Amino acid sequence: MSNNKPNKPQYNNNNKFGNKNNQNNKFNNFKNNNQKPVVQSKLPLVYVEGMTALDIAEVTKRPVNEIIKSLMMLGIMANQTQSIDRDTAELLAGELKIEFKLDETKDYTNFEKIEIVDDPKDLEYRPPVVTIMGHVDHGKTTLLDTIRNSRVVLSEAGGITQAIGAYSVERNGKKITFIDTPGHAAFTEMRARGAKITDIVVLVVAADDGVMPQTREAIDHAKASNCPLIVAINKIDKHNANPDRAKQELTELGLLPEEWGGTVPFVPISALRGTGVDLLLDTIQLVAEVEEYKANPNREATGYVIESKLDKANGPTATLLVKSGTLHVSDVLVVGNTWGKVRTMKNDLGKQIRSALPSDAVSISGLAEVPQAGDQFLVFKDERQARTIAEARALKAKNQSQNASKVMSLDELFNQAKAGDIPSLNLMIKADTSGSAEAMKGSLEKINVEGIKLSVIRSSVGPVTETDVLLAQASNAIIIAFNVVALSNVKDFAKTKGVDIRSYNIIYKLLEDIEAAMKGMLSPVYEDRVCGQAEVREVYKVSKLGTIAGSYVTDGVVKRGCMVDVIRDGIIIYSGKLSSLKRFKDDAKEVKAGFDCGIMIEKYNDIKVGDTFQFSVTEEVTNEE
Ligand code: GDP
Repeated sequence: MSNNKPNKPQYNNNNKFGNKNNQNNKFNNFKNNNQKPVVQSKLPLVYVEGMTALDIAEVTKRPVNEIIKSLMMLGIMANQTQSIDRDTAELLAGELKIEFKLDETKDYTNFEKIEIVDDPKDLEYRPPVVTIMGHVDHGKTTLLDTIRNSRVVLSEAGGITQAIGAYSVERNGKKITFIDTPGHAAFTEMRARGAKITDIVVLVVAADDGVMPQTREAIDHAKASNCPLIVAINKIDKHNANPDRAKQELTELGLLPEEWGGTVPFVPISALRGTGVDLLLDTIQLVAEVEEYKANPNREATGYVIESKLDKANGPTATLLVKSGTLHVSDVLVVGNTWGKVRTMKNDLGKQIRSALPSDAVSISGLAEVPQAGDQFLVFKDERQARTIAEARALKAKNQSQNASKVMSLDELFNQAKAGDIPSLNLMIKADTSGSAEAMKGSLEKINVEGIKLSVIRSSVGPVTETDVLLAQASNAIIIAFNVVALSNVKDFAKTKGVDIRSYNIIYKLLEDIEAAMKGMLSPVYEDRVCGQAEVREVYKVSKLGTIAGSYVTDGVVKRGCMVDVIRDGIIIYSGKLSSLKRFKDDAKEVKAGFDCGIMIEKYNDIKVGDTFQFSVTEEVTNEE
């Protein structure tokens, strides 16, 4: 063994004694190394979308300062954490005289496209995810309620069922997850966006009514999605129930019951009385066993947004369905074009939990913005990376929408319709909850005016943002803001882009206006025009009088007797009339931007510090032609 010793570096031996000489040697060594011409790494710049200067330094094994300097030479002032787009990175590689390569397998800004292949030995069984479909009034909601209420865990958990868009039940010690939004629209829309959420479709057909138009539609959707289908023949308790006729009709549509030699399980039930519901759950589990739904729980979680909203107390919240991996509190994730860190996680019983397994649906908070139903999420290790990717995705969406065409306003549509031209009307809905967004979309699409095609290009939750304006511009759409605001900077932006933002808080008024515009009969005479904005900085509660909001006018002017919207987290929580406007102790006629004032609102006292007031006056509208 001692023969090996001389192979050790010389200084190690000297080091033992720790003499000064040795230290000098070390120093000299270091110095010498430094004096040698620096051998630059020639590693290629393997580019991944969303990469920052720091990331580039890492993959090219070069000091970040050199990267920043080279970018500067190209006329680009970037900091370490700023993401560098592909074209710039290509130029940078040229500047550094290294090869540029694109790594598409790691294009995390497009993470939906990255196929994650798990080792089969890592896969474990996961519960099936079920969607209930069927014709209106055939009992979908009743069935979902009956199954939900059958849960014994309810009292044990001490929880109150939360409407989070999905819930789980346990049967024979195994879980089943139900998507709690019956209806085809949500299902199809999610599928159209590539979100594969559902494993099994339960088709509810009322035994007293048989196959109806939406039954056919549901079958088409289920077939197109390749999901196994189970038929629940409902309302068998009714005296006029005729399950055989329903079966016959379904057979004619290609659904042959197992007992007639086919492959489709049929279960007779009464959703109202609970009859046959256990058998239905058993059948679901049987199908799941055959299909062997599996996922790897030991990886970064990925899945889809089922529902989302801007919660007054918690900010943007979303119900996520985990498809694979395990989602934990504090996980950093990119969701659609936004990102966040899981702050709180609740299950469908409102219970705070710390992690969610594949097929679990949980409501989380901690996101920067409200994502859209159907958006995919993926957990990232690094907060900075997640933010950069989300920003790159938002930018991509913005750029895609910048190939703007001419934008149509409601007034223009009215003029064109009046002139007998046949335009099409594109709408983009922004609403306070995903429920109202869906409802509005449904109602708007039902408006039928001959010769005009109406399409809702997007409906989502949250205040109107600049990205929305750009998207609307790109698709020549009018933005409908329902119970949400567009702050003045966004409004100004919309104006420069020629995008029409229409605000409503009453659905029938919206439907009326749109229909009138489509018929060329729109005659807007009066409209509420925003005249100013203020921020609540202090709140005084005065008994007998009510709440006085010490406010600072940030924009425009507030006038005595004008209308006011109280905005909290981007949502209009109250609309009413100003009852008092004071400067110091005196009544004021108006208060301009840059001044403080005291404000009271008629019959409304729930004002909090941080609320925004948006003031409007009713004015006659002249058509700007
Ligand atoms: P959905 O539109 O498909 O969600 O249908 P609902 O669940 O709202 O049910 C429509 C109506 O049918 C309601 O009045 C229910 O009480 C009733 N209903 C649902 N299931 C049953 C059932 O099994 N038996 C009877 N008799 N009525 C039912």
